Amino acid sequence: MQKTSGIHHITAMVNDAQRNIDFYAGVLGLRLVKKTINFDRPEVYHLYFGNESGDPGTAITFFPWANQLKGRIGTGQVGVTSYVISPGSLSFWKDRLKQFGVRFIQNERYGEHYLQFQDPDGLELELVERHDGPVNTWSFGGVTSDVAIKGFGGATLISAQPHKTAEVLEEILGLENIGQEESFLRFKSASGIGNTIDIKLTPSVRGLMGAGTVHHIAWRAKDEEEHKRWRALLVEKGYYPTEILDRNYFKALYFHEGGGILFEIATDSPGFAVDEPMDALGEKLMLPSWLEPRREEFEGMLPKVEARILEGDRE
Ligand code: ZN
Repeated sequence: MQKTSGIHHITAMVNDAQRNIDFYAGVLGLRLVKKTINFDRPEVYHLYFGNESGDPGTAITFFPWANQLKGRIGTGQVGVTSYVISPGSLSFWKDRLKQFGVRFIQNERYGEHYLQFQDPDGLELELVERHDGPVNTWSFGGVTSDVAIKGFGGATLISAQPHKTAEVLEEILGLENIGQEESFLRFKSASGIGNTIDIKLTPSVRGLMGAGTVHHIAWRAKDEEEHKRWRALLVEKGYYPTEILDRNYFKALYFHEGGGILFEIATDSPGFAVDEPMDALGEKLMLPSWLEPRREEFEGMLPKVEARILEGDRE
C-alpha cells in the first residue's frame, strides 16, 4: 500500500493580502515563496508561505479577497493548523506574539504543549515544540533560523463523520492510527514534518466557507506515478476525484472525503523554483505560461503587496 508522507500544503481564505503577508511573513517569519494568482479566478492573488524553499509540508497558501464574507470554522473543514518549532523556542514565541498584540492560550494534548492563537482573519493556529523535521534556514525580521517555524506539525480536522474521515486517512492515505485521547483521534505519517493529524470527536457547528476558514488540505504524493495510482484508488473506492490538474508548482487532484472536508493530493515536484530563482522567490508576480499574455491586466487589477519587516522589528 502506498502511504502519503503527510501534509503537502494547506489553503485558506482571507480578506486582505498585505495584512496576510504582514502576519505570516512579518510576525511568524515564514518566507513568502510565491506570489501568483488563483488559476481558476485570476483576479485573486494566490500567496504561498513556507520554509526557505517552500518544501512540501511547510507551505500554507491563501486566496485573499477583500469582498469575501466571513466564514465560520466548523464541520467539513480543517479547524486548526499546527506549526512545529524547535524544542526550547516556545518562550521566544510567547514574547513575540505578545509584542505584536496576538493573544494566545496554552493547551495540552497527547502529552504535548500547544500555544494556540488566531491570525488576523480568525484562522486557528498553534505552535508545538518537536525534534521532528529539518531546521528552517530562513531568517526574517525578528525570527532567526534557530527559533523559526520548521513547517506543519499537523492539523486538526473537524469532520461531519469522523469515522469516515478516519477511514480515508488510514485506508487511502496510509496514515497510522495512534489512538484516541479524550476528544481526539490521532494519526501519524512517517515523515518528519506535517505528520500528525487529529480528528476532533466532540460536536461542532457546521462550517461555512469564507474568509478566516481553511479551503482545503493537500496530501503529498512523491511523484506523478504515485499520484495517478491514488486517483485510480479513489475511483475504485467510490470517491469522485477531479482530473489531474497542472498547478505549475505541483500536479493536483481534489475530492471530498466522507466527512465533508475538501482533500487534495499534490505531487512533491517540481516545487517553487521552477519559474524563478531560489534566492528571489516570492518577490515578483508569477503567472503560469497560459496566463502570461494577460500580465498587464492582472498587474493593473491586483493591489501591490510585498513581504516587509514590521515596525516592531526595525531598529
Ligand atoms: Zn491546494
